[in-house]
Amino acid sequence: RALPLDPCGENVPRPVPDACFSRTRPSPVANPRLVAMSLPALALLGLEPPPLRAPREEEQLEAEVALYFSGNRPLPGAEPAAHCYCGHQFGSFAGQLGDGAAVYLGEVLNPSGERWEIQLKGAGLTPFSRQADGRKVLRSSIREFLCSEAMFHLGIPTTRAGTCVTSDSEVIRDIFYDGNPKKERCTIVLRIAPTFIRFGSFEIFKPVDEYTGRKGPSVNRNDIRIQMLNYVIGTFYPEIQEAHSGNSVPRNAAFFREVTRRTARMVAEWQCVGFCHGVLNTDNMSIVGLTIDYGPFGFMDRYDPEHICNGSDNSGRYAYNKQPEICKWNLGKLAEALVPELPLEISELILEEEYDVEFEKHYLQKMRKKLGLIQLELEDDDKLVSELLETMRLTGGDFTNTFRFLSLFLVDPDPLKLEDFLEKFAKQCASLEELKVAFRPQMDPRQLSMMLMLAQSNPQLLALIGTKANINKELDRIEQFSKLQQLTAADLLSRNKGHWKEWLQKYRARLEKEIGSVSDAEVWNAERVKIMNSNNPKYILRNYIAQNAIEAAENGDFTEVRKVLKLLEKPYELKESFDVQEELEEEEAVAGAAAC
Ligand code: AMP
Ligand code: MG
Ligand code: MG
Repeated sequence: RALPLDPCGENVPRPVPDACFSRTRPSPVANPRLVAMSLPALALLGLEPPPLRAPREEEQLEAEVALYFSGNRPLPGAEPAAHCYCGHQFGSFAGQLGDGAAVYLGEVLNPSGERWEIQLKGAGLTPFSRQADGRKVLRSSIREFLCSEAMFHLGIPTTRAGTCVTSDSEVIRDIFYDGNPKKERCTIVLRIAPTFIRFGSFEIFKPVDEYTGRKGPSVNRNDIRIQMLNYVIGTFYPEIQEAHSGNSVPRNAAFFREVTRRTARMVAEWQCVGFCHGVLNTDNMSIVGLTIDYGPFGFMDRYDPEHICNGSDNSGRYAYNKQPEICKWNLGKLAEALVPELPLEISELILEEEYDVEFEKHYLQKMRKKLGLIQLELEDDDKLVSELLETMRLTGGDFTNTFRFLSLFLVDPDPLKLEDFLEKFAKQCASLEELKVAFRPQMDPRQLSMMLMLAQSNPQLLALIGTKANINKELDRIEQFSKLQQLTAADLLSRNKGHWKEWLQKYRARLEKEIGSVSDAEVWNAERVKIMNSNNPKYILRNYIAQNAIEAAENGDFTEVRKVLKLLEKPYELKESFDVQEELEEEEAVAGAAAC
């Protein structure tokens, strides 16, 4: 029997004047069942399952976990509340928009003295749910659960996920099969983080929200903003609090500087693993620099700098290659929200001083490790990286596999071996059909030449129809496309081999410089391979892998989700010996198993 979504009668969406948080309760669901749990994440809360359990005990344990982490049974000591925040969505201030779907349970002090905040996402209506239902469904919850843990094991700052619990309660979402709305299972994710406070948590203090009519705290607006700032700095940036006294501008400047640096490093990490967040609104930016809110995210398969993973992002605002500048823009919005605690002249200067430098530095450091450049830092290294990416783009190289396989490239002068490597390496690039789709021009060539002609004599027209860079991009596409049209699959392979040969020669020259600087080339090579393999994941959460696990779970089989979680817990899977052919076969086996 499906329970009513709001049996408590107190979680009615309503204005809560002058509040940033409001007490609420998770709404129970019918027949909660554990889809999967992350033991390393639960260990953060001091929760460890008893060792060696009989099947019957295992069942009981899972039932109990499901009962607590669905929100059906209150955790002792929990003080459930919902947090109200604002945000800029797709570039515009959207007023109060969260948190209509997540309920805080409180903080856990674990045996090592760490303090973790826990919340249930999808636990039903809160005062801030507006017209929505406060629920999440199985597919989005599995994606959030798996990706949170995947990112953690990749070494990328992120909120964690402890459990994923589904139920027999249902909601309707706008997916249509055969023209009928599909009922989906209410599912709840236990999220864990030091804090879930976001940039948007500070934007609630804007004087009046003209867009929604909802006011943030008005009576003591300044006091509450300072209180929240003091709490955030004192709790999560204690070294900054200790170095400065009270609510001073230098303290707040140091805080903003640190948030800026952490954000820059986080997005640099994303770029290095081909992760696209998809919804980089200011309410999805953590105040402690964590990846937060896994929605339509995607890890790239074929490398495409303009990859967009959010179906409703029509303008490509949150495309892969836009992420660094968007996060900087978001920091600008945080800066605005911190006035008058931190004057804009100061924060803007900090942003200009710190962000790009920190991003570039971290990105290049990481890329050097991914390429196994462990000995020297040379000036042209950034060029080597961008040429690698361009080669991947032209050949349709898979982002993850290209990097992973690079460690198999031997600095071996034997041309036969190079040829063999090239043959296998080029195999992981996209097929002719895929590349044709990727390079398909968006504009008719005749239209484009007409536009160019007119634009030459009229700069205003040029501004209207797009920037020069856009036009050049389109010309480039047309050229690529017409070249591809004339190719056969065999031509493509040899063309790809040509592209790769060119880049690999440069790579080899760079590696030889490394060798020239070490006394023992063998020791160096072993170290290089080790560093590469611990920075280039073998397993990432590819969309189709997630999708297969979701479909099995929708049919009541949770084993696939659990299996995928296991793989993602060891994304680098370090092996003694390593071979491209073997890797390719394994990749196919994983894909095959997932497809079954
Ligand atoms: P997002 O675009 O995922 O960052 O969501 C923005 C905000 O929309 C969240 O903070 C929630 O408050 C709200 N929201 C999203 N889904 C729901 C839902 N099913 N019910 C109520 N509020 C929701
Ligand atoms: Mg969100
Ligand atoms: Mg979301």
